[in-house]
Amino acid sequence: MSHPITLIPGDGIGPEVAAAARRVVDATGVRVDWEVTELSTEVILKTGQALPESVVESLERTRVGLKGPVTTPIGGGFSSVNVALRKRLDLYANVRPVHSLAGVATRFQDVKIDLVIFRENTEDLYSGLEQEVVKDVVTGLKVITRTASIRIAEYAFKFTDSVGRKKVTAVHKANIMKLADGLFLRCCREVAARYPHIEYKELIVDNASMQLVMRPETFDVLLMPNLYGDIISDLCAGLVGGLGIVPGANMGENHAVFEAVHGSAPDIAGKGIANPTAMMLSSVLMLMHLKEMDAARRLQSAVEKVYAAGKHLTADVGGNASTNQFTDAVIAAMG
Ligand code: NAD
Repeated sequence: MSHPITLIPGDGIGPEVAAAARRVVDATGVRVDWEVTELSTEVILKTGQALPESVVESLERTRVGLKGPVTTPIGGGFSSVNVALRKRLDLYANVRPVHSLAGVATRFQDVKIDLVIFRENTEDLYSGLEQEVVKDVVTGLKVITRTASIRIAEYAFKFTDSVGRKKVTAVHKANIMKLADGLFLRCCREVAARYPHIEYKELIVDNASMQLVMRPETFDVLLMPNLYGDIISDLCAGLVGGLGIVPGANMGENHAVFEAVHGSAPDIAGKGIANPTAMMLSSVLMLMHLKEMDAARRLQSAVEKVYAAGKHLTADVGGNASTNQFTDAVIAAMG
């Protein structure tokens, strides 16, 4: 059987890391019908569509996507196409496993980091509802609903339970945003009560940031609204070697789109030096979702072998290999 998968290379370093991920997935021997669709600043400007229909149509057909990053203009221009896609397909759970990779030199090398971030993916300050009330006074709406908070909490606890993890920490700022984050917390507590065997803790986001840097090994599953999840994801990536490494999955009831935590990295785009590990490990999550467990294990283990050997690493993790050389090494390590 062949799996139909929508491949969205994106822009910036996206096409480089997406091509690498495609090569390693093909090298596992799993049969894939890649449906390549364009989603980039160029296409958005050309079509005038914030989210080109061709991308949505393809994902509605295949139900599974592997996506590279797409640039979002800063302080003006079109709205984030990444946010639009997540909302349109109701990809409500953003799941990001963060763990130490042997062979990557980091400031936290002596610490075993193994945590999973669950970020609510459809609301919060990403509502895009901003307005200039009067000149030089701007408001932005933070939207928190019971429906979205309950379902991300349920997703996180169900996952924690199913894989035998032990602790969920909800991250919030309910001391200040008493209504919005207060509602989020009440929903987390309600779901936590159904899982008495799982330890449930709450941390204010500023304290959580400090604890993550001081004692990252004490965290297991993190459960957060959208904005804190976005920021804490990059912080956690920094603990294990940077954005080149950490994968992610955007999960909905009917669709799943796998993508790295990192963005389009315009500073290194087109140079052939981007680290494709995060996209490859996102592909591992995708293969698991497709129930191709053997291929997922072989790809994961090949990436680990290349890091352990340390000969073909990209510049962001201290090596001097190109994207292609790293990819060749991963394919060779698959045997
Ligand atoms: P970024 O993640 O693109 O880059 C941050 C830093 O990490 C840069 O120095 C970059 O070179 C480095 N980096 C990132 N990925 C790397 C990789 N695979 N290999 C080696 N180095 C890597 O963040 P940014 O610069 O803040 O954002 C750039 C653009 O990406 C913005 O337009 C932003 O909106 C967009 N973005 C998109 C997504 C997405 O498509 N899901 C996610 C985050 C940011």
